[in-house]
Amino acid sequence: MAAVRVLRAGSRGRLWRALRFGCACQLHTVYQTAELPDTHQMLRQTCRDFAEKELAPIAGQLDKEHRFPADQVKKMGQMGLLSIDVPEEDGGAGLDYLAYSIALEEISRGCASTGVIMSVNNSLYLGPVLTFGSEEQKRRWITPFCSGDKIGCFALSEPGNGSDAGAASTIAQLDGSEWILNGTKAWITNAWDASAVVVFATTNKSLKHKGISAFLVPMPTPGLSLGKKEDKLGIRASSTANLIFEDCRVPKENLLGQPGLGFKIAMQTLDSGRIGIASQALGIAQAALDCSVDYAEKRLAFGSSISKLQAIQFKLSDMALALESARLLTWRAAMLKDNKKAYTKEAAMAKLAASEAATAISHQAIQILGGMGYVTDMPAERHYRDARITEIYEGTSEIQRLVIANQLLKDYRS
Ligand SMILES: Cc1cc2nc3c(=O)[nH]c(=O)nc-3n(C[C@H](O)[C@H](O)[C@H](O)COP(=O)(O)OP(=O)(O)OC[C@H]3O[C@@H](n4cnc5c(N)ncnc54)[C@H](O)[C@@H]3O)c2cc1C
Repeated sequence: MAAVRVLRAGSRGRLWRALRFGCACQLHTVYQTAELPDTHQMLRQTCRDFAEKELAPIAGQLDKEHRFPADQVKKMGQMGLLSIDVPEEDGGAGLDYLAYSIALEEISRGCASTGVIMSVNNSLYLGPVLTFGSEEQKRRWITPFCSGDKIGCFALSEPGNGSDAGAASTIAQLDGSEWILNGTKAWITNAWDASAVVVFATTNKSLKHKGISAFLVPMPTPGLSLGKKEDKLGIRASSTANLIFEDCRVPKENLLGQPGLGFKIAMQTLDSGRIGIASQALGIAQAALDCSVDYAEKRLAFGSSISKLQAIQFKLSDMALALESARLLTWRAAMLKDNKKAYTKEAAMAKLAASEAATAISHQAIQILGGMGYVTDMPAERHYRDARITEIYEGTSEIQRLVIANQLLKDYRS
């Protein structure tokens, strides 16, 4: 049943070794045959089965009730889907980022809210602890967050700054053996359901963004309170809220990395996170396309199914083209990361392409469904609402364009 358990069943066997053999091999396979390696196809099928059975049937209800999918998240933890690239010795699935992208797309195809819950735990919470944490920090802040018993969140944005993340006004002051945090973080995904947060705060204001540091804070903890749950357009089954720090004390050893490394940790984390959000957008777009094709085949107008109309066929073609192009960009960014190559520009391209594709495809899906696209009896309107956020969080589309242009110009000038 379980994706990773399925892989592990043969973990000493051929498939597992093939997966571990290396991503250079995957790059070759994907580019030469335009197909995923067997192992990744198996993971994809397992996640697809799980999403179709456990998520898609309840996604509409979760959305309506703004309900966190606790049982499903727990099962995903047991399957290894909440810690996909965390090494097995730390309690994770020990897979690669291509596997993460594929799994996240399938989960988001079933339920986009569950997709973002999964992506925040994997990329935004576990990611920075894995990369910058000490061995002691990894034991405490990673292993319990792999199984689905606990999930984490990531607090960078503030009421006064989102895109301009370097202007953080939350502060942390050292007092003997403790840091004291004060300030408000805004829009924090998983806030109401999380057991820990990676939070960014200024430790030296005069250094501007180079004076920001990252901290690990348990939740709940004295001095940290939650704001109200935001009433959102989409991804309504995931919680989003402010985190308010008022003389919140954490031990000195809860500093993640070195003082002043926070901005670098945040930017590096967002590079990986963007591959996750691109994958979430692919899942939403695929679900919108699935629903469009199904409806177009069944809906009769003027004596035949509307899928026979060229006007509808052109829409379906454009939707499929945008989706496939974005998927290739996303897999490429994931494979570059797996191969330890630079991927900042490619991750930004993937997120930009996939999020804009998801918005356009879910928009056209409603058009193809006509009146049925506009009501909650069909999932098209939810896909349309869910798609929109992928153009905003983890860097808006405008910020992705800036990142791409910066890297592009650097490449030309070097
Ligand atoms: C549902 C949801 C969940 C979120 N989850 C998290 C989370 O878990 N953790 C977290 O830290 N944050 C989270 N965020 C915050 C999110 O990352 C920010 O909303 C986003 O980065 C944009 O910041 P902002 O809302 O302050 O918009 P602003 O930065 O105020 O931007 C407003 C507009 O100005 C444009 N703009 C700003 N600067 C530039 C520029 N230099 N050039 C061109 N255009 C520009 C933007 O693109 C945008 O169109 C979440 C947000 C939402 C809505």
